[in-house]
This record gives sequence, structure tokens and C-alpha cells, in this order.
Amino acid sequence: MEIIHLSAECYPVAKVGGLGDVVGALPKYQNKLGHFAKVVMPAYNIPFMWDNEFEVVYDAWVNLGREGFPVRILREKTNKLGFDLYLVHIAGLTDRDKVYGYGDDTERFLAYQIATLDWINQWEHRPDAIHCHDHHTGLVPFMTANCERYKSLSHIPTILTIHNAQYQGQFGWNKISYLPAFDLWKSGMLEWKNAINPLASAIKCAWRVTTVSPSYLDELSVKANGLESLLASERGKSTGILNGIDNDVWNPKTDSMLQKTYNVRTVESGKKANKAALCAVFNLDPTKPLFTFIGRLVGEKGADLLPDIFHNALAHSRGNINILVLGSGDPVVEGRLLELNNWFPGNYNAYIGYNEKLSHQIYAGADFLLMPSRVEPCGLNQMYALRYGTIPIVRRIGGLRDTVTDIGDGGFGICHDQTSVWDVGQAMGRAYELYQDKKRVKDILKYIMQLDHSWDRAAQQYIDTYQM
Ligand code: ADP
Repeated sequence: MEIIHLSAECYPVAKVGGLGDVVGALPKYQNKLGHFAKVVMPAYNIPFMWDNEFEVVYDAWVNLGREGFPVRILREKTNKLGFDLYLVHIAGLTDRDKVYGYGDDTERFLAYQIATLDWINQWEHRPDAIHCHDHHTGLVPFMTANCERYKSLSHIPTILTIHNAQYQGQFGWNKISYLPAFDLWKSGMLEWKNAINPLASAIKCAWRVTTVSPSYLDELSVKANGLESLLASERGKSTGILNGIDNDVWNPKTDSMLQKTYNVRTVESGKKANKAALCAVFNLDPTKPLFTFIGRLVGEKGADLLPDIFHNALAHSRGNINILVLGSGDPVVEGRLLELNNWFPGNYNAYIGYNEKLSHQIYAGADFLLMPSRVEPCGLNQMYALRYGTIPIVRRIGGLRDTVTDIGDGGFGICHDQTSVWDVGQAMGRAYELYQDKKRVKDILKYIMQLDHSWDRAAQQYIDTYQM
């Protein structure tokens, strides 16, 4: 099958979170299964653009209402990512330093979607499926189904994957003229709560909808930032497919970012060396258990509670634990996490910012990874932690529920039911006790490193979905 993935992120081109990891891996694994998957994404002003070679495959203009923007679509020449990569450059819109966060994000992603469809529209052949990821590509199913201009694309199956339903990309009806002409009787297919809502529109118009874990699909009927009833009514065409991880990128045996590589046999010495290196950099004590958090510092991840959770844990443990944080997001949380440095030097440290290499080093060097999420559609961190022999401490929610079983239930992780300072504190206490039982920890590490969360399974599940 020929599959076109449309996404705002794709690792290693541009990544903000798990969406980038998924779109950087899924097409590669689909190609390994003998299919022909490619990625079409916006061209940002990022190092990938000047470190690689491209050929121009399309030159045109895209209109948003009365304003026109020059479009150039570039193909990465070497196919080194394991799939064909196309970057849609729209001068004045996509060419920014960051992926998201601009006042005109609506215009940026809408122009990218229209330019992409204009390009596909003039191909001599038609792809077998268009796979849209999150709201930035959510108007594509509506446009292929309803815009006169894309009539010849209307028979191509469209699939929406919801990576995160919190973000929906709503905008006002005053921007309706940005869309290519369509029968206005169809406006209802764009609408949710008096606005144009790209995620809601994609849920209505896509031929199939998937979420990134089965539990998240269940939860969305109850809690989906206002889309609950819509998701419940479209449940019949929806499936939960658990994300995989890219074993080529996330492999402690070959990971060149680590101080020392290791495998199941050498996990003890390997983790010890990585922990020692990490502790030396962050002024921590390598003889104490190392708890970590990696992620966006936002409410969804329970990040607002982290300062209190860490303060309590460090105060109670009287210097017997280490905590290391890597993240960025809410400035208030960032400030409070940095402040803890003054209170617990030698046992606590925080790196505020985004650092891919450091994240690998932390997965390798840590003993425990905390994920007290309020919402977790799939979560990749816990799967990376498992692969690197780090025990996850997670709230039972979404994909965390689907991937981590508590040691009390014959499993390998530590689970808690609520995102609260008390619950996480209790869970850290259980982890501390477990840490004292070296033999049991060793058995768990060997077990979790061998769990199979590779993309092979999920890549096939997506193919089955397209075929449906
Ligand atoms: P989400 O997509 O909701 O942010 P996921 O668990 O699905 O959460 O994916 C998070 C991804 O982003 C992981 O690859 C994680 O290692 C990475 N990540 C998050 N924050 C940082 C950071 N500050 N530095 C490096 N990597 C980060």
C-alpha cells in the first residue's frame, strides 16, 4: 500500500513530544513490512533544513482567503530515515524556529494542509490511504470529502490518529474563507461548539479513527476536553492501537549517547557506569536510588505537583534518595523546580530545557522514572525506561495502564491510582523499599529490558485498519 502520513512533527526532523517519535518510526516499520509509507510535514527553520540535501518536487502558491503565499515542496534526497520525507515550505508561515506556539498557527497549519492536497491532487496516481496525525492535519478528511477542488481525492481513505485530544486547534468562523470552496450545507462537519474545530471535524469525517492506546479510547468517551459525546458516537469506527518504540533509536546495546552501552547480561555494570556519569554531572550521590522525571512541565503530566512531591520525598528521606528532573513548560513550575536546588544540594537537580541526549542518558542511568500523569494517551517514556532497565512509577491511566503492571500484581512497575502528592509519595516509598532488595531488582531489570514494545506489531495493526 502507499500511505501518506501528514504530521506537524517527525523525529529527527522536528520533535516536541511523542507525536514526533511516532511519525518518525511508524512509516519506517510499515516500509519494512513491504509497504510504501512517506511523510509530508511543514518545513520549519531548523537545523535539519541546512544539514541535509533536498530536491524541489513542487513549486506553487497557496491562498488563504485573498492572501497568497509561495509554496515549495522539498524531498530529502537520501531516504536515510527509512521513508520518503517531504517538507512543505511556505514562505512567511512554516519557516519559523519552533513547531508551535505562534499567534497564526491556524494559518500556518491550514496553508500546509491545503498546499499538500494541491500537490497530491496533481499526481498522476492516487495513494491508498492518507493518515492524519492530530489536529494540525485534521481538516484534510473534510477537504478531501467535500471541497470541489479535491473531488478526485474523495475516494482515498482517510485515517485520523488522536495522539492528544486536549489540543483541538479551534478557530472562528471568520476564517471560513481560508478553506477551498465547498458546499456550505456541509459546514456542520467542521463545527463543534460554535467554532471550526479541526480535531472534531477529523473525528467526524475520517473513515477510521485511532487512539494511541486502547485505554485512552475508553477514557475519551468520559474525558476529552469537550469532545466526549462526539467520540462516544463515533466509537464504532474507532480503535485503540498502542504505540511502539523505535528499537533502532532506543537501544541500550548500541546507543552512542550513553556513557557505556549495555545489554540484559551486563545491565548491572552498564547502568552503574551511566548512573555514575550522570550523578557526577548533576552533583548527586550514585550510591542512593535515583528517581527521575522527563517531560513537558504541564498539568496533563502532573508537573504542577512535582515541586511538592519532591520536597516531601527529599525531606522525609533525609538524604537517602536522589531526584533529577529534565523538562520545560510552565514557567511557574520551572521556577519552583529550580528553587529546590537551593534546599537539597547533593540530592536534587533540575535541567530546565529540551535535551534529547540527556534524556537517553537519564533513561540509562536512573533507577526509577516517575509519570504521575493526569492524562496519558499512550506515553512513550515508560516504554523507553523499560527498555533501558529503569523501573517506571506510573499513575494507572491511559497507555500507562496498558503497559505497566504493578509488582504487587506479579508485574514489574509501581502503579498508583491518583495524581496526588500523597499517592506519588506512597509509590516512591514502595520504590525505595524495592530498591533495598537487590536480587529482586536485578530480576525485574532483566525482565523489563526484554519486553517487546517494538513497532512491528502496531505497524501491522495500522495496515489492517487501512484495509478495513
Ligand atoms: P508527550 O507526547 O505527551 O509529551 P510522550 O511520553 O508520548 O509524551 O513522549 C514524550 C517524548 O518527548 C519522549 O521521547 C521524551 O523522552 C521526550 N521529551 C519530553 N521532554 C523532553 C525534554 N525536556 N528533553 C528531551 N526529551 C524530552
